[in-house]
Amino acid sequence: MNHKNFSRRIIAWHQKFGRKTLPWQQDKSLYKTWISEVMLQQTQVATVIPYFNKFMRSFPTISYLANAPLDEVLHHWTGLGYYARARNLHKAAQFIRDNYNGNFPEEFQQVIDLPGIGRSTAGAVLSLTLDKHFAILDGNVKRVLTRHQTIEGWTGEKRVENTLWKLAEKLTPHTQTNVFNQAMMDMGAMVCTRTKPKCSECPVHNDCLAFADGSMKEFPTAKAKKKIPVKNAFMLVLADKSAQTIQLKQRPPVGIWGRLWCFPEFSSLDECREKLADTGIENYQETLLPAFRHTFSHYHFDISPVLIEVPKMEIKQVMEESDSLWYNLQHPQKIGLAAATKKILSSVNKIHEKE
Ligand code: SF4
Repeated sequence: MNHKNFSRRIIAWHQKFGRKTLPWQQDKSLYKTWISEVMLQQTQVATVIPYFNKFMRSFPTISYLANAPLDEVLHHWTGLGYYARARNLHKAAQFIRDNYNGNFPEEFQQVIDLPGIGRSTAGAVLSLTLDKHFAILDGNVKRVLTRHQTIEGWTGEKRVENTLWKLAEKLTPHTQTNVFNQAMMDMGAMVCTRTKPKCSECPVHNDCLAFADGSMKEFPTAKAKKKIPVKNAFMLVLADKSAQTIQLKQRPPVGIWGRLWCFPEFSSLDECREKLADTGIENYQETLLPAFRHTFSHYHFDISPVLIEVPKMEIKQVMEESDSLWYNLQHPQKIGLAAATKKILSSVNKIHEKE
Protein backbone atom coordinates (compact mmCIF):
# COMPACT_ATOMS: atom_id res chain seq x y z
CA MET A 1 0.00 0.00 0.00
CA ASN A 2 1.22 3.51 -0.79
CA HIS A 3 1.12 5.00 2.70
CA LYS A 4 1.76 8.59 1.75
CA ASN A 5 -0.99 8.53 -0.72
CA PHE A 6 -3.40 6.97 1.80
CA SER A 7 -3.09 9.84 4.27
CA ARG A 8 -3.24 12.42 1.45
CA ARG A 9 -6.55 11.05 0.23
CA ILE A 10 -7.97 10.88 3.75
CA ILE A 11 -6.93 14.46 4.51
CA ALA A 12 -8.32 15.75 1.21
CA TRP A 13 -11.64 14.05 2.01
CA HIS A 14 -11.69 15.73 5.41
CA GLN A 15 -11.18 19.21 3.91
CA LYS A 16 -14.46 18.71 2.05
CA PHE A 17 -16.59 16.52 4.29
CA GLY A 18 -15.00 16.18 7.74
CA ARG A 19 -16.43 17.56 10.96
CA LYS A 20 -14.96 20.91 11.88
CA THR A 21 -17.66 22.60 13.92
CA LEU A 22 -18.04 20.29 16.91
CA PRO A 23 -18.13 22.13 20.24
CA TRP A 24 -14.79 20.71 21.39
CA GLN A 25 -13.17 21.81 18.12
CA GLN A 26 -13.82 25.48 18.93
CA ASP A 27 -11.15 27.26 21.02
CA LYS A 28 -9.41 23.92 21.37
CA SER A 29 -7.73 22.99 24.62
CA LEU A 30 -6.25 19.79 26.00
CA TYR A 31 -8.97 19.78 28.64
CA LYS A 32 -11.83 20.01 26.13
CA THR A 33 -10.32 17.38 23.84
CA TRP A 34 -9.76 15.07 26.78
CA ILE A 35 -13.35 15.34 28.01
CA SER A 36 -14.77 14.91 24.51
CA GLU A 37 -12.56 11.89 23.76
CA VAL A 38 -13.60 10.18 26.97
CA MET A 39 -17.28 10.91 26.34
CA LEU A 40 -16.95 9.64 22.76
CA GLN A 41 -15.67 6.24 23.86
CA GLN A 42 -18.62 3.90 23.17
CA THR A 43 -20.92 6.88 22.49
CA GLN A 44 -21.91 8.68 19.29
CA VAL A 45 -21.18 12.33 18.56
CA ALA A 46 -24.83 13.42 18.45
CA THR A 47 -25.43 11.98 21.93
CA VAL A 48 -22.25 13.47 23.34
CA ILE A 49 -22.77 17.11 22.23
CA PRO A 50 -25.41 18.16 24.84
CA TYR A 51 -23.56 16.27 27.61
CA PHE A 52 -20.29 17.95 26.64
CA ASN A 53 -21.82 21.45 26.60
CA LYS A 54 -23.46 20.99 29.97
CA PHE A 55 -20.29 19.49 31.44
CA MET A 56 -18.23 22.47 30.27
CA ARG A 57 -20.72 24.95 31.67
CA SER A 58 -20.54 23.27 35.08
CA PHE A 59 -16.82 22.43 35.06
CA PRO A 60 -15.15 25.05 32.84
CA THR A 61 -11.63 24.15 34.00
CA ILE A 62 -9.79 21.14 35.36
CA SER A 63 -9.78 22.75 38.82
CA TYR A 64 -13.57 23.10 38.80
CA LEU A 65 -13.83 19.42 37.93
CA ALA A 66 -11.29 18.37 40.54
CA ASN A 67 -12.99 20.39 43.29
CA ALA A 68 -16.54 19.26 42.48
CA PRO A 69 -18.07 16.44 44.54
CA LEU A 70 -17.96 13.11 42.71
CA ASP A 71 -21.75 12.91 43.00
CA GLU A 72 -22.12 16.04 40.91
CA VAL A 73 -19.79 14.68 38.23
CA LEU A 74 -21.73 11.40 38.15
CA HIS A 75 -24.95 13.39 37.90
CA HIS A 76 -23.62 15.00 34.70
CA TRP A 77 -22.87 11.52 33.40
CA THR A 78 -26.33 10.10 34.06
CA GLY A 79 -27.49 8.53 30.79
CA LEU A 80 -24.05 8.28 29.16
CA GLY A 81 -23.28 4.89 30.74
CA TYR A 82 -19.90 3.34 31.54
CA TYR A 83 -19.62 5.37 34.74
CA ALA A 84 -16.04 4.29 35.41
CA ARG A 85 -15.20 6.93 32.80
CA ALA A 86 -16.64 9.70 34.97
CA ARG A 87 -14.99 8.40 38.13
CA ASN A 88 -11.64 8.26 36.34
CA LEU A 89 -12.08 11.78 34.92
CA HIS A 90 -12.64 13.08 38.43
CA LYS A 91 -9.66 11.18 39.82
CA ALA A 92 -7.42 12.33 36.95
CA ALA A 93 -8.54 15.96 37.40
CA GLN A 94 -7.55 15.80 41.06
CA PHE A 95 -4.19 14.32 40.13
CA ILE A 96 -3.62 17.11 37.58
CA ARG A 97 -4.64 19.75 40.14
CA ASP A 98 -2.26 18.32 42.74
CA ASN A 99 0.71 17.46 40.50
CA TYR A 100 0.56 19.71 37.44
CA ASN A 101 -0.90 22.86 38.89
CA GLY A 102 -4.21 22.23 37.17
CA ASN A 103 -2.64 22.19 33.67
CA PHE A 104 -3.20 19.13 31.52
CA PRO A 105 0.22 17.52 30.89
CA GLU A 106 1.75 17.60 27.40
CA GLU A 107 4.10 14.60 27.59
CA PHE A 108 2.72 11.29 26.31
CA GLN A 109 3.92 9.29 29.31
CA GLN A 110 2.36 11.73 31.77
CA VAL A 111 -0.94 11.61 29.86
CA ILE A 112 -1.12 7.84 29.56
CA ASP A 113 -0.35 7.50 33.29
CA LEU A 114 -3.59 9.36 34.17
CA PRO A 115 -6.51 7.17 35.29
CA GLY A 116 -8.79 6.08 32.47
CA ILE A 117 -6.51 7.11 29.60
CA GLY A 118 -5.22 4.45 27.23
CA ARG A 119 -2.80 4.69 24.36
CA SER A 120 -5.37 5.78 21.77
CA THR A 121 -6.97 8.46 23.96
CA ALA A 122 -3.55 9.86 24.95
CA GLY A 123 -2.56 9.98 21.28
CA ALA A 124 -5.86 11.59 20.31
CA VAL A 125 -5.67 14.32 22.96
CA LEU A 126 -2.09 15.29 22.11
CA SER A 127 -2.42 15.02 18.35
CA LEU A 128 -5.81 16.68 17.94
CA THR A 129 -4.97 19.60 20.24
CA LEU A 130 -1.22 20.11 19.77
CA ASP A 131 -0.68 18.38 16.43
CA LYS A 132 1.85 16.04 18.01
CA HIS A 133 2.73 12.95 16.01
CA PHE A 134 0.85 10.10 17.66
CA ALA A 135 -1.28 7.43 16.03
CA ILE A 136 -4.75 6.60 17.31
CA LEU A 137 -6.70 3.37 17.24
CA ASP A 138 -10.28 3.78 18.40
CA GLY A 139 -13.22 1.69 17.22
CA ASN A 140 -13.74 3.78 14.09
CA VAL A 141 -10.10 3.59 13.02
CA LYS A 142 -10.02 -0.14 13.70
CA ARG A 143 -13.01 -0.61 11.40
CA VAL A 144 -11.46 1.36 8.55
CA LEU A 145 -8.10 -0.40 8.82
CA THR A 146 -9.37 -3.95 9.23
CA ARG A 147 -11.59 -3.50 6.18
CA HIS A 148 -9.06 -1.70 4.05
CA GLN A 149 -6.45 -4.39 4.65
CA THR A 150 -8.84 -7.30 5.41
CA ILE A 151 -7.15 -7.94 8.76
CA GLU A 152 -8.79 -10.94 10.37
CA GLY A 153 -9.28 -11.75 14.05
CA TRP A 154 -11.03 -10.03 16.94
CA THR A 155 -9.47 -6.57 17.44
CA GLY A 156 -9.38 -7.03 21.23
CA GLU A 157 -6.86 -9.84 20.76
CA LYS A 158 -3.28 -8.70 21.47
CA ARG A 159 -1.86 -10.08 18.22
CA VAL A 160 -4.47 -8.30 16.08
CA GLU A 161 -4.18 -5.11 18.10
CA ASN A 162 -0.40 -5.05 17.65
CA THR A 163 -0.78 -5.47 13.89
CA LEU A 164 -3.26 -2.60 13.81
CA TRP A 165 -1.07 -0.30 15.90
CA LYS A 166 1.87 -0.94 13.56
CA LEU A 167 -0.31 -0.16 10.56
CA ALA A 168 -1.80 2.96 12.18
CA GLU A 169 1.70 4.24 12.98
CA LYS A 170 2.87 3.66 9.42
CA LEU A 171 -0.11 5.48 7.98
CA THR A 172 -0.11 8.47 10.32
CA PRO A 173 1.68 11.35 8.59
CA HIS A 174 4.22 13.57 10.36
CA THR A 175 2.54 16.72 9.10
CA GLN A 176 -1.14 17.42 9.68
CA THR A 177 -1.38 14.55 12.15
CA ASN A 178 -4.27 16.36 13.78
CA VAL A 179 -6.28 16.55 10.54
CA PHE A 180 -5.48 12.94 9.62
CA ASN A 181 -6.56 11.55 13.00
CA GLN A 182 -9.76 13.57 13.01
CA ALA A 183 -10.39 12.47 9.43
CA MET A 184 -9.95 8.78 10.26
CA MET A 185 -12.44 9.04 13.12
CA ASP A 186 -14.90 10.91 10.89
CA MET A 187 -14.41 8.39 8.08
CA GLY A 188 -15.27 5.54 10.43
CA ALA A 189 -18.31 7.34 11.80
CA MET A 190 -19.66 8.79 8.56
CA VAL A 191 -18.49 6.62 5.64
CA CYS A 192 -17.04 3.29 6.78
CA THR A 193 -19.97 2.72 9.09
CA ARG A 194 -20.71 -0.48 10.94
CA THR A 195 -23.70 -1.74 9.01
CA LYS A 196 -23.93 0.15 5.70
CA PRO A 197 -20.53 1.46 4.60
CA LYS A 198 -20.82 4.09 1.84
CA CYS A 199 -17.91 2.73 -0.15
CA SER A 200 -18.70 4.77 -3.26
CA GLU A 201 -18.08 7.94 -1.22
CA CYS A 202 -14.92 6.59 0.41
CA PRO A 203 -11.64 8.27 -0.54
CA VAL A 204 -9.69 5.00 -0.22
CA HIS A 205 -12.05 2.58 -1.96
CA ASN A 206 -9.67 2.16 -4.93
CA ASP A 207 -7.34 -0.02 -2.91
CA CYS A 208 -9.69 -1.26 -0.17
CA LEU A 209 -9.40 -5.04 -0.09
CA ALA A 210 -12.77 -5.62 1.56
CA PHE A 211 -14.53 -3.43 -1.01
CA ALA A 212 -12.78 -5.33 -3.80
CA ASP A 213 -14.30 -8.62 -2.76
CA GLY A 214 -17.47 -7.28 -1.12
CA SER A 215 -16.51 -8.57 2.32
CA MET A 216 -16.92 -5.23 4.17
CA LYS A 217 -19.38 -6.59 6.68
CA GLU A 218 -17.06 -9.40 7.73
CA PHE A 219 -14.68 -6.85 9.25
CA PRO A 220 -13.81 -6.20 11.98
CA THR A 221 -14.15 -9.87 12.95
CA ALA A 222 -16.78 -10.26 15.66
CA LYS A 223 -15.73 -11.55 19.04
CA ALA A 224 -16.66 -15.18 19.55
CA LYS A 225 -19.87 -15.05 21.58
CA LYS A 226 -19.85 -16.67 24.97
CA LYS A 227 -22.95 -17.29 27.01
CA ILE A 228 -23.20 -14.96 29.94
CA PRO A 229 -25.08 -15.82 33.14
CA VAL A 230 -28.40 -14.32 34.21
CA LYS A 231 -28.99 -12.86 37.67
CA ASN A 232 -32.34 -11.81 39.09
CA ALA A 233 -33.40 -9.36 41.76
CA PHE A 234 -36.44 -7.57 43.06
CA MET A 235 -35.85 -3.87 43.67
CA LEU A 236 -37.79 -2.22 46.46
CA VAL A 237 -39.06 1.19 45.36
CA LEU A 238 -40.24 2.70 48.61
CA ALA A 239 -42.31 5.83 47.99
CA ASP A 240 -43.74 8.44 50.30
CA LYS A 241 -46.90 9.22 48.41
CA SER A 242 -47.80 12.46 50.13
CA ALA A 243 -44.34 14.02 49.72
CA GLN A 244 -43.68 12.54 46.24
CA THR A 245 -40.33 11.20 47.36
CA ILE A 246 -38.67 7.85 46.77
CA GLN A 247 -35.99 6.18 48.82
CA LEU A 248 -32.68 5.61 47.02
CA LYS A 249 -29.57 3.91 48.31
CA GLN A 250 -26.04 4.65 47.31
CA ARG A 251 -24.14 1.63 46.03
CA PRO A 252 -20.74 0.76 47.45
CA PRO A 253 -17.72 2.20 45.56
CA VAL A 254 -16.73 -1.15 44.05
CA GLY A 255 -18.91 -3.44 41.95
CA ILE A 256 -21.62 -2.54 39.47
CA TRP A 257 -22.90 1.06 39.47
CA GLY A 258 -20.23 2.04 42.02
CA ARG A 259 -21.26 5.10 44.10
CA LEU A 260 -24.42 5.57 42.01
CA TRP A 261 -27.90 5.72 43.51
CA CYS A 262 -30.14 2.72 43.18
CA PHE A 263 -32.84 0.71 45.00
CA PRO A 264 -32.30 -1.98 47.62
CA GLU A 265 -32.26 -5.46 46.11
CA PHE A 266 -33.99 -8.60 47.35
CA SER A 267 -33.95 -12.14 46.05
CA SER A 268 -37.73 -12.57 46.30
CA LEU A 269 -40.94 -10.64 46.82
CA ASP A 270 -41.36 -12.34 50.20
CA GLU A 271 -37.97 -11.09 51.30
CA CYS A 272 -39.04 -7.57 50.29
CA ARG A 273 -42.22 -7.88 52.35
CA GLU A 274 -40.30 -9.25 55.33
CA LYS A 275 -38.02 -6.23 55.25
CA LEU A 276 -41.07 -3.95 55.27
CA ALA A 277 -42.59 -5.87 58.20
CA ASP A 278 -39.27 -5.68 60.10
CA THR A 279 -39.26 -1.93 59.64
CA GLY A 280 -42.82 -1.75 60.95
CA ILE A 281 -44.39 -0.79 57.63
CA GLU A 282 -47.77 -2.46 57.33
CA ASN A 283 -50.11 -0.07 55.66
CA TYR A 284 -48.98 0.17 52.06
CA GLN A 285 -50.00 -0.25 48.47
CA GLU A 286 -47.92 -2.69 46.41
CA THR A 287 -47.60 -2.40 42.62
CA LEU A 288 -45.37 -4.52 40.41
CA LEU A 289 -43.65 -2.21 37.92
CA PRO A 290 -42.61 -3.54 34.48
CA ALA A 291 -39.68 -5.97 34.79
CA PHE A 292 -36.71 -5.48 32.45
CA ARG A 293 -33.26 -6.79 31.63
CA HIS A 294 -30.09 -4.76 32.02
CA THR A 295 -27.09 -6.33 30.34
CA PHE A 296 -23.57 -5.84 31.65
CA SER A 297 -20.55 -7.16 29.79
CA HIS A 298 -20.35 -10.16 32.10
CA TYR A 299 -23.99 -10.95 32.95
CA HIS A 300 -27.63 -10.19 32.31
CA PHE A 301 -29.48 -8.65 35.20
CA ASP A 302 -33.24 -9.29 35.24
CA ILE A 303 -34.83 -6.67 37.45
CA SER A 304 -38.36 -6.76 38.90
CA PRO A 305 -39.16 -3.44 40.57
CA VAL A 306 -41.86 -3.36 43.26
CA LEU A 307 -43.40 -0.02 44.09
CA ILE A 308 -44.40 0.27 47.74
CA GLU A 309 -46.36 3.42 48.49
CA VAL A 310 -46.76 4.31 52.16
CA PRO A 311 -47.89 7.28 54.22
CA LYS A 312 -45.13 9.58 55.37
CA MET A 313 -45.33 8.93 59.08
CA GLU A 314 -44.59 5.25 58.73
CA ILE A 315 -41.43 5.54 56.69
CA LYS A 316 -39.68 7.86 59.08
CA GLN A 317 -38.19 4.79 60.67
CA VAL A 318 -36.10 3.93 57.63
CA MET A 319 -34.97 7.47 56.94
CA GLU A 320 -31.98 7.41 59.19
CA GLU A 321 -29.66 5.16 57.17
CA SER A 322 -26.61 7.15 56.07
CA ASP A 323 -26.33 5.65 52.59
CA SER A 324 -29.92 6.45 51.66
CA LEU A 325 -31.80 9.58 50.67
CA TRP A 326 -35.31 10.59 49.72
CA TYR A 327 -35.31 11.52 46.06
CA ASN A 328 -37.75 14.24 45.24
CA LEU A 329 -39.64 13.54 42.03
CA GLN A 330 -40.70 17.18 41.63
CA HIS A 331 -37.32 18.71 42.46
CA PRO A 332 -34.74 15.97 41.75
CA GLN A 333 -31.42 16.19 43.58
CA LYS A 334 -28.26 16.39 41.48
CA ILE A 335 -26.90 12.90 42.02
CA GLY A 336 -25.63 10.12 39.79
CA LEU A 337 -28.38 7.63 38.99
CA ALA A 338 -27.75 4.09 37.78
CA ALA A 339 -29.30 3.30 34.40
CA ALA A 340 -31.80 0.94 36.06
CA THR A 341 -32.80 3.65 38.54
CA LYS A 342 -33.62 6.08 35.74
CA LYS A 343 -35.75 3.47 34.04
CA ILE A 344 -37.64 2.62 37.21
CA LEU A 345 -38.19 6.29 38.08
CA SER A 346 -39.72 6.83 34.67
CA SER A 347 -42.10 3.88 35.28
CA VAL A 348 -43.14 5.51 38.55
CA ASN A 349 -43.68 8.83 36.80
CA LYS A 350 -45.87 7.15 34.20
CA ILE A 351 -48.06 5.71 36.98
CA HIS A 352 -48.35 9.14 38.59
CA GLU A 353 -49.29 10.73 35.26
CA LYS A 354 -52.15 8.25 34.86
CA GLU A 355 -53.50 8.99 38.33
FE1 SF4 B 1 -14.62 1.18 4.44
FE2 SF4 B 1 -15.80 0.83 2.07
FE3 SF4 B 1 -13.90 2.65 2.39
FE4 SF4 B 1 -13.28 0.10 2.41
S1 SF4 B 1 -14.12 1.25 0.71
S2 SF4 B 1 -12.54 1.63 3.84
S3 SF4 B 1 -15.06 -0.76 3.43
S4 SF4 B 1 -15.93 2.64 3.33
